[in-house]
Amino acid sequence: MKDIVLNVNGIEVIYNHVILVLKGVSLQVPDGRIVALLGGNGAGKTTTLRAVSNLLKGERGEVTKGSIELRGERIENLTPADLVQRGVVQVMEGRHCFAHLTIEENLLTGAYTRSSKQEVAANLEKVYNYFPRLKTRRTSQAAYTSGGEQQMCAIGRALMANPNLVLLDEPSMGLAPQIVEEVFEIVKDLNQKEKVTFLLAEQNTNMALKYADYGYIMESGRIVMDGPAAELATNEDVKEFYLGVG
Ligand code: ATP
Repeated sequence: MKDIVLNVNGIEVIYNHVILVLKGVSLQVPDGRIVALLGGNGAGKTTTLRAVSNLLKGERGEVTKGSIELRGERIENLTPADLVQRGVVQVMEGRHCFAHLTIEENLLTGAYTRSSKQEVAANLEKVYNYFPRLKTRRTSQAAYTSGGEQQMCAIGRALMANPNLVLLDEPSMGLAPQIVEEVFEIVKDLNQKEKVTFLLAEQNTNMALKYADYGYIMESGRIVMDGPAAELATNEDVKEFYLGVG
């Protein structure tokens, strides 16, 4: 069996001290794989990713039960910056590029943990290699680039930290199908060539199952089904309730 990079074990998350949103979520992400976290609006996908990257506090949320381990080490009390140092980076839903910065300036903000200029320059070239569109738009202000370019910029910025686990939230959101496919192709490439492991939250079940190795389906704060992506894609219940969504 592959090494487990991320082990989420029975976590509960409560917002504002009262709203129980995750009701015992467990999932595992093996090294070098793409794992999809699927489900509709409000199922709890973003909350799960935020729990892993310790970004719940700003949302008045907290993990009240369960544990989260990165390669066997408990990480619930690490800051998001500690996690970046350990190779875990989250790409937020809605892209969140800095609108007033150029694409290149945005990418460079992702390298804040790196001190070697040479390394940063080499990484920038690597990002441009994977995202040639970003190279042509390097001096454009992010505000004036397309949704697809901003999503690529958000992923590229995460790559600048040299991650080994990327938590990718709804990369398809608001993008035309052709662009979604382009983004997913790059994710697959990064997974295969750079050995980056992905935990990917998606409402677009079709697309996610096409590219992921394994999938978990969430509903109302619980995992209701999981399995190899190819099996989920042909499962009758999944076809009836989730495929065609997104
Ligand atoms: P989406 O695709 O819409 O982001 P999701 O599966 O990622 O959906 P979450 O964003 O994790 O779902 O939301 C799960 C539930 O938690 C929803 O019912 C949502 O209304 C609630 N929720 C999310 N953020 C907060 C918050 N800061 N305070 C209170 N409730 C919240």
